[in-house]
Amino acid sequence: MTPPTVLRFAEWTLGPDPDRDPPVLHTVCKECSLPSPETTDRAESDLWALEHRGRTGHLRYRECVSVDLYVRPKGEETR
Ligand SMILES: [Zn+2]
Repeated sequence: MTPPTVLRFAEWTLGPDPDRDPPVLHTVCKECSLPSPETTDRAESDLWALEHRGRTGHLRYRECVSVDLYVRPKGEETR
């Protein structure tokens, strides 16, 4: 005989993954949708946008950043 499943209320939090890789970012030109290569170095991404501006005259960009996240029970010790 299988015991009944017990459900209880628990609060969970979302935060940085303790085993995360460095944030990865890229910049996208908002005028032609061309993306820069992905990088972990913001200066590379910024330089790509400045060079793209020089080649195309495009002025508007969006910076996209990916950060690994981890869900844990509220109160669990963070590393
Ligand atoms: Zn562009």
